[in-house]
Amino acid sequence: MNLLQNLTKVKERIEQAAKRVGRDPSQITLVAVTKEAEPEQIKTLFELGVLNFAENYAQSLIKKYEIAKDAVWHFIGRIQTNKVKYIVPRCEYIHSVWRLNEIETINKVAEKLGKIQKILVEVNVSQEETKAGITLEEAPKFVETALNYPNVSVVGLMTMAPFTDDENLIRSVFRKLRELRDKLVERFPTVQHLSMGMTNDFEIAVEEGATMVRIGRALFKGEGV
Ligand SMILES: *Cc1c(COP(=O)(O)O)cnc(C)c1O
Repeated sequence: MNLLQNLTKVKERIEQAAKRVGRDPSQITLVAVTKEAEPEQIKTLFELGVLNFAENYAQSLIKKYEIAKDAVWHFIGRIQTNKVKYIVPRCEYIHSVWRLNEIETINKVAEKLGKIQKILVEVNVSQEETKAGITLEEAPKFVETALNYPNVSVVGLMTMAPFTDDENLIRSVFRKLRELRDKLVERFPTVQHLSMGMTNDFEIAVEEGATMVRIGRALFKGEGV
């Protein structure tokens, strides 16, 4: 498996997708998802210039963070409030926030560290029962409430598209998140980022406005590249 080849290909595809819709590719951050990656691969990818990494599990984050301490780390997994104390000191962004008790805990931990924790609110656009996230309708109120916590800053929205071959369905999910962001940012100027797009669908996400794509298998396993 050649990480440089995978990385080159993924970057090319992001650039091409951006250009198709007249976007500047430098506005899109490639976030390498490490949940299935070997420590050695993370080290190599960092040396190849990937500066953003994401983990799903707090326990793995503790270990993997040590491999690339100078990288920007993101947390993208289900949040267990008793693990927040491991996440906040290591992560610049937490993408998967959608419950008020999570915000409360993050705020408390961040306050102790004298940090303002950037978070993205996870939205379950497709309303699948198995998926985490608030509904599109709940988002404005949720963001407004989150603003009451001084050590938390809502910097964007995150979603996962349904697992399907139906491109139009995937596209409509990403588009709805973008439309929500466009509406929210008028009232809440910090809500800028759109974290959407994974190995199977990142080009559609870029075409629909993603500012962060979260890619694991295409980078580390060469899937689809
Ligand atoms: C695993 C995961 C990804 C990356 O998925 P790939 O298909 O490996 O690219 C992105 N986002 C979340 C929330 C994940 O759990």
